[in-house]
Amino acid sequence: MSVRGRPSGLSSLCSQSSVGGMGCGVGGPVVGHLVGSTCSSSSASRVGSAGSLVGVGAGVPSLEGEVGCPDCAALYPITDDALLHNLHTRYKRDQIYTYVGTGLISVNPYRRLALYTPEVINAYRSTCVFHLPPHIYAVADAAHRGVWERNMDQVVVVTGESGAGKTEAAKLVLQYVGYSCHNNRLLQSNPILEAFGNARTRRNDNSSRFGKYLEMEFDHTGEPVGGSITHCEYNKSRVTSQAAGERNFHIFYQLLAGADIQTLKSLRLQRNVENYILLQAPRHCPTDVLDDRTEYNITKRTLDALGMTQEEQLEVLKVVAAVLKLGNLTFTSVNNIDGTEGCSNENEYELHEVCELLSCEVSTLTGALQTRTVEARGETVVAELSAIDATRTRDALCRALYNRLFTWVVSRVNEAIKVKTMGRRKVLGILDIFGFEILETNSFEQLIINFCNEKLHQVLTEVTLKHTQEDYLREGIDWSPIDVPTNNAVVDLIEQRQTGVLAVIEEVSSRVGGGTDALLQQLSFSCGGHSLFDIKGGRHAHSDNNIPTDSFRIRHYAGSVTYTVYGFIEKNCDALHRDLTRSLYRCNHRILKELFPEGNPRRTTLKRPASVGTQVLISVSALMRTLRSKTPHLIACIKPNELKQPRILESALVLHQIKYLGLVEQARVRCEGWSYKGTHEGFLSRYAMLSLHTWPTWRGAPLEGCALLLADLPITPTQYTFGRTKVFIKSQRAIHELEEYRRER
Ligand code: ATP
Ligand code: MG
Repeated sequence: MSVRGRPSGLSSLCSQSSVGGMGCGVGGPVVGHLVGSTCSSSSASRVGSAGSLVGVGAGVPSLEGEVGCPDCAALYPITDDALLHNLHTRYKRDQIYTYVGTGLISVNPYRRLALYTPEVINAYRSTCVFHLPPHIYAVADAAHRGVWERNMDQVVVVTGESGAGKTEAAKLVLQYVGYSCHNNRLLQSNPILEAFGNARTRRNDNSSRFGKYLEMEFDHTGEPVGGSITHCEYNKSRVTSQAAGERNFHIFYQLLAGADIQTLKSLRLQRNVENYILLQAPRHCPTDVLDDRTEYNITKRTLDALGMTQEEQLEVLKVVAAVLKLGNLTFTSVNNIDGTEGCSNENEYELHEVCELLSCEVSTLTGALQTRTVEARGETVVAELSAIDATRTRDALCRALYNRLFTWVVSRVNEAIKVKTMGRRKVLGILDIFGFEILETNSFEQLIINFCNEKLHQVLTEVTLKHTQEDYLREGIDWSPIDVPTNNAVVDLIEQRQTGVLAVIEEVSSRVGGGTDALLQQLSFSCGGHSLFDIKGGRHAHSDNNIPTDSFRIRHYAGSVTYTVYGFIEKNCDALHRDLTRSLYRCNHRILKELFPEGNPRRTTLKRPASVGTQVLISVSALMRTLRSKTPHLIACIKPNELKQPRILESALVLHQIKYLGLVEQARVRCEGWSYKGTHEGFLSRYAMLSLHTWPTWRGAPLEGCALLLADLPITPTQYTFGRTKVFIKSQRAIHELEEYRRER
């Protein structure tokens, strides 16, 4: 467990001034406000002194050389421009981390910095954070301490747009917390999740195409005992189509590049990427950045480490190979004698090999791909599919196989990391979802991603800014409310029952023959009057007529996005015909039976599977409930440039992110607010031991006890106040020192 350095003594409490913040957590160095200075930090006097974390001694962090203001809440005045200037000043010196009170801003350096060595981890474990520069490890440490010192569930939430560094940040938090535990399977599981769930996009070479919520569980001594992963995937369509310059999921390329000849042979694969239609990106996609072969070895080692047997691994890879080979099947039209249209498969050999991989009869799979069984008036009719429909069926099968396999892999990882012992436990969660996306052409996937980000933004604004201020007012302490813009209107526009965008998509999807035109019409009817929604011929006053006829536009908190509705209905339903699920269930492949349970002929219910939109609404609201129930620690990641290059910070791009991430509001509330709040009873029970008035017993009213206790400590009255039910303490450092003092007792 983490051992803190010697406290500097409670006498220092008297000299602290305010750094706001909420809950328990970490804060930057405590600083005072000097009107007119850009940073009122004591460290401001060191601005411009040489050096940064990189290259300092043997990588041991030090405050020496910190530039700008390590805590944006201490800037004066707190404005967007001041934040930008501060982040830029620090970024130029590789000081990529800056506090905003208890939260952290991280600017993607796009190059490896010497910030993550064991020496640095040890420094943050053993030294008071106030003596160290801002770091993601300080946030991880605060969250970890929240679990084992305060016995409360914690969650680290990483936000930011695609490529801003969320996944890297999440890994660093996990690395820090799991550092002392040798067999941390949760930490080890990352390469598998990334191999199956990440892909190169134009914005990020390793873009998470699924949302991930990791939970580490701790026993009563604070030791990690296991964990779980919840994923919410949405990017089904990538398996069969990728945008220009993008790739399919990493695992396909890793497998071809990294597997030995023998494995490739048993998977009926050839090494060359060009042999597979699903891997032929529409426009040239550079392959020099990712070392697929090395990554394959890492994925493989991870599968071994999680206890997956060689046989099991081969079963998984067989499904991956089958998807690749299915993608190569081409169907051509055949005119039947009875005048109907049928099709024939041009690549019989490939189909045979797919059947070998999936252990299924060729006739079964051929039937499932090229015909459709329809039941009408008690009769069963088998109709041939046209080449176009067979191609659609093939694509739906590829997507379903891959996506269900991914879900299976995640549950297999969960099996390996789950807690095997009983007992009371607390958790530390880490949330890393796909970032906000605006592409040249935005489709259903972007709507889902951006909706998830809207929900997250809404909940974070609520728990960090709104609730904090409401609490101050409820408790009756002196507080001038700070205006916090919310995104409730746009969230409603998308998720509202019956008239929201997702509900309209759902309704049109369920109509017989509901297509693109019907969707546009219904969207115009239901949402056309909303001020944040634009569509050709929309009804509200600002309707923008530059919108293409097949599109609609939503003004999101992070920018306006024009969505092209083509393919929305198919992507939302993505249902598999019973012929397919039945034939997959019949395969002799162990995993497939688990992947397609609805294909079991003994299951007679023909309930329509939930659409993608419905699944997303369910999983997002579950995730938000989880977030609301835990103490949050925020990490806002910022993307400095679109070129994915180090040392470049594009001011306009960063300013835009500062604005929509609400960092100025965060800094203001944290600057004016109180770092600590706790009930009178809670405060007393934790710190009663620090005063003879309250120790060993206190029988009076809790509020009176708190007052006596605080009066007995070297802390000035301006540093604390009492609400109706809670005690509030200004500076983070004061609380840190109370903890140190308590530990010394
Ligand atoms: P998405 O929403 O697309 O998943 P993301 O926010 O998760 O994006 P990351 O994958 O974490 O973005 O980061 C993108 C890339 O930026 C990384 O692959 C890495 O090259 C670089 N990067 C991010 N954070 C750091 C860091 N702390 N140090 C060095 N490089 C980093
Ligand atoms: Mg990511």
